[in-house]
Amino acid sequence: MNRWTVNSVVILGLVSIFSILLVQFVWMRSTVEMQAKNIAIQEKEDSLNLREFSQQAHSALREVLEQISPDQPDHTDLYGVIKQIKSNQFTVDFSEELQPFYLETLLKKELYHQNIHQDFVYGIYDCFKDSIVLGNLITFTKDSLYADSKKGLPGLTPESLNLTKDGHYFTVYFPNVKPKPIEAASFVSPWVYLVIIILFVIVFFAFSLGIIIRQKKLSEVKTDFINNMTHELKTPISTISLSSEMLMRMDLSEENQEKIRKYASIIFKENKRLENQVERVLNVAKLDKEQVILDKEPFNVHELLQEVKENFEFNQTEIGGVISLDCSAEVFQIQADSVHLTNVVYNLLDNAIKYCEGKAVIQIHTRNERNGLFIEVSDNGIGIKKENFKLIFDKFYRVPTGNVHDVKGFGLGLFYVKLIIEAHHGKIDVKSILGKGTTFSVWIPFA
Ligand code: ADP
Repeated sequence: MNRWTVNSVVILGLVSIFSILLVQFVWMRSTVEMQAKNIAIQEKEDSLNLREFSQQAHSALREVLEQISPDQPDHTDLYGVIKQIKSNQFTVDFSEELQPFYLETLLKKELYHQNIHQDFVYGIYDCFKDSIVLGNLITFTKDSLYADSKKGLPGLTPESLNLTKDGHYFTVYFPNVKPKPIEAASFVSPWVYLVIIILFVIVFFAFSLGIIIRQKKLSEVKTDFINNMTHELKTPISTISLSSEMLMRMDLSEENQEKIRKYASIIFKENKRLENQVERVLNVAKLDKEQVILDKEPFNVHELLQEVKENFEFNQTEIGGVISLDCSAEVFQIQADSVHLTNVVYNLLDNAIKYCEGKAVIQIHTRNERNGLFIEVSDNGIGIKKENFKLIFDKFYRVPTGNVHDVKGFGLGLFYVKLIIEAHHGKIDVKSILGKGTTFSVWIPFA
């Protein structure tokens, strides 16, 4: 997948997400508007119903009052004594003699006449003590209390109870009449859904994009590896092919003996090189954490580094390479797998030489810190960009250098180094300045 395809996928994805969200937004807005309208209508209806109910209740209570106080000459005086304290609660001040049974019967009858077919609770209060004297819940049933009250059916309060003392008032409360609460959630919920959908789409898109980018990187790494492998294998194969062709063309006479031996040895060496390369790649490539088996023994790191230095000097001094060894660690004998740890140090040194454009100047330094041993290998090479610090430890990863790789490799060296260090419960870290040099520091704990 090339950059153009990835960009197209991203742009198309963004455009389609944006379109979907726009449609969702418009749709959601019209739904919310419609809902708000419906709620407003409903509220209006409710308030109309409540007003009607309030009027009916007032009329019924006035009728009750008129019948309780038949001697009251001017019934207009009674208007002020009925007060509505809530949409479903009324109080009536009353100073006449009051018979609860009579009051209950009248309430049932008059409410029924005013088409209030509702349960109600009435209570008679003493004004002086402001405490309830008597109260009752009257349940509405079609064919009992209300309709039949005229026939004089006994009610629930004792007929004999008379409240003769002045200063009473009674309240009537309709528990089932409630102003409908406006569902706040219905205003919010469509937007909540929209936000959830947006979040979901964004997360999904980011996830897909992540996968696409990862796949792209993997495919780049794969192509890089195949190119490298082809290049590395092609050279010995063509040398072998050329040499064997020469051998075939040659007559086996005595004077050609020397040449025949030369070509045969070239074929043998190149074949060995090929074999080693394939072996190395296959061995490391199939290696993972679970497969590393360490054969730990007391291992003298300074001795190894001395040997590394001598080797370097043997190969590099002639072409101007310099190596310095600073063995500051006081404890340099650690429990480690000698073969793997030797490979680790050689891998780091090989890289330090490989990724150096001029004469390699290498410093190796050891010290004891954090209850372990640090080995640092610094070079004056091409350096590594910060963004590649993590990636260089991945299997087959090589820092991209366009399509040309002057330096040979399969991107397995640092993967192997990290694997071995972690198997020793240690850590590897890299610091680098592009164009100036790189330092790899390895830490191995004593315990
Ligand atoms: P290889 O060297 O075979 O490519 P490695 O796993 O050893 O694979 O290294 C991975 C990449 O890290 C290399 O391709 C190189 O770009 C970068 N690298 C490693 N060591 C150094 C170094 N000392 N200086 C600069 N770049 C380095």
